[in-house]
Amino acid sequence: MTTQSNPHKDSYQAACHCGTVRFRVKLSDGLNSARRCNCSYCCMRGAVAVSAKLDDIHIEQGKEALTLYQFNTHEAKHYFCSTCGIYTFHQRRSNPNQYGVNVACLEGMSPFDFAEVPVNEGKVHPNDRPAGSSNIAGWLRYTANTDTTN
Ligand SMILES: [Zn+2]
Repeated sequence: MTTQSNPHKDSYQAACHCGTVRFRVKLSDGLNSARRCNCSYCCMRGAVAVSAKLDDIHIEQGKEALTLYQFNTHEAKHYFCSTCGIYTFHQRRSNPNQYGVNVACLEGMSPFDFAEVPVNEGKVHPNDRPAGSSNIAGWLRYTANTDTTN
């Protein structure tokens, strides 16, 4: 995967859109863990997520503004800012020891920093699937418009 960011920089300052929620995060595998997912919720949410251990997110401000959303098996915990509605991070169902973190909340980052992002097969959750089936539903690709005349 190609990104414009330094892959060795694993610690990030992060915030929601309005800045009410601020947190520091240390990523488990830098930006290499960037994924999307095709489950019913992620299809609507549309965020690229990276991975962090539960202990590696430190909420510095706005914890009280975080709202919890759960659905289906109610195992995953999806948090978003109650003021601006932006998804910040979620505790995973597939690995409850991990958070998925909205890459767009990381300072200076956006989904458009990734030329290619794998999409996890989330319609049938890994925990509900026969062992050995592929985790990847496909890839989303982004190509910047280099035509500066428009
Ligand atoms: Zn906010």
